[in-house]
Amino acid sequence: MIRVNENYLKIQASYLFTEIAHRVKAHQEAHPEAKIIRLGIGDVTEPLAPAVIAAMHKAVDDEATRERFYGYGPEQGYAFLREAAARDDFRSRGIDVAADEIFISDGAKCDCGNVQELFGPDVKIAVTDPVYPVYVDTNVMAGRTGANENGRYGKLTYLDCNAANGFVPSPADLKEPVDVVYLCYPNNPTGATATKEQLQAWVDWAIREKALILFDAAYEAFIRTPGIPHSIYECAGARGCAIEFRSYSKTAGFTGVRCGYTVVPKGLVGYAADGTPVELRPFWTRRQTTKFNGCSYVTQRGAEAVHSPEGKAQTRATIDFYLENARLVKEALLARGYDVTGGHDSPYLWVNVKGDSWAFFDKLLKEANVVTTPGAGFGKAGEGYIRISAFNSRENVLEAIKRLEKVLG
Ligand code: PLP
Repeated sequence: MIRVNENYLKIQASYLFTEIAHRVKAHQEAHPEAKIIRLGIGDVTEPLAPAVIAAMHKAVDDEATRERFYGYGPEQGYAFLREAAARDDFRSRGIDVAADEIFISDGAKCDCGNVQELFGPDVKIAVTDPVYPVYVDTNVMAGRTGANENGRYGKLTYLDCNAANGFVPSPADLKEPVDVVYLCYPNNPTGATATKEQLQAWVDWAIREKALILFDAAYEAFIRTPGIPHSIYECAGARGCAIEFRSYSKTAGFTGVRCGYTVVPKGLVGYAADGTPVELRPFWTRRQTTKFNGCSYVTQRGAEAVHSPEGKAQTRATIDFYLENARLVKEALLARGYDVTGGHDSPYLWVNVKGDSWAFFDKLLKEANVVTTPGAGFGKAGEGYIRISAFNSRENVLEAIKRLEKVLG
């Protein structure tokens, strides 16, 4: 008899996007003429940068020749991309990260989900609430969380993010000792950013407690405010207590192409049961070389082009375009008296709807034909908010604003 991993049964089914799809479908069927605008999705809408396209075309031509044909590549990624990322994302900012500390993958979701395989079954995990669900669900699958009761897992520690703490919790908010904390800034879903002081407090805590920070920087390319850290490694001591995830998805529109990477610094350790320090980088190397066969050559050449001068200028222009979308929507909501977080160094707006998030979602769907995401879907502390995404055409954003203004008065 084949036994199943019963931890999967504990996963609180995420009805969020199914429920949204269901409600949108019902509304469209009842009003076939309605032109629905989707500001709920976290997917990009603009095409890849010309520099990326050119590099990928050239890479396809490489594969067409006997001399430049690439078969299986290194599981950790080609040196050309690891070096480009180390130089452009870190060393150019004075941050100490070497190419052989960068592990290329097919996106940050897999890496954020897989990293917990390196830890013991009993490590205590802390997550923010609201949260990107991958951090939670992968630990549920691994059996670390206990059962879900009233929307929360008994053995997880939740750090509430709310207006009172500016959506950035501090180590002082931990109600019990933990071994691992997942942090994501700029944040999905709240759009909040963390200051260097706030991140430094987490780094100091992690060093003191021999704990680990898993830092998700998938949205760092949206940061425009000087001084907001792009990387956890801007904080003193972070190399000794943090793993960082990066993604080309939102940085360069690679949601369909698939590429990202994880930084595991040399010297970063976990501990064996007897207290012996064990380096994590060889563990991640082993994990990737055993279970992952590399991101495609064509994709990595495309990602390399993101770091070229043209690629940087072009991808920055696309992000500026999304940021302008965000600014326009934010301005309209602020003018109507709504408290809005994010939308400045982030593609997401987190809007306090002063009431039930599903009711507000329904109001905007039915009266404005605009789809948003109810905050409750990201965690208990997300109730009372909706997330609005800036990933859309300018035409749709301007039309959505017109409709919101009409409905919200
Ligand atoms: N981390 C966060 C916070 C995200 O919001 C997303 C995607 O929405 C990811 C990681 C996944 O990125 P990727 O497309 O590289 O898998």
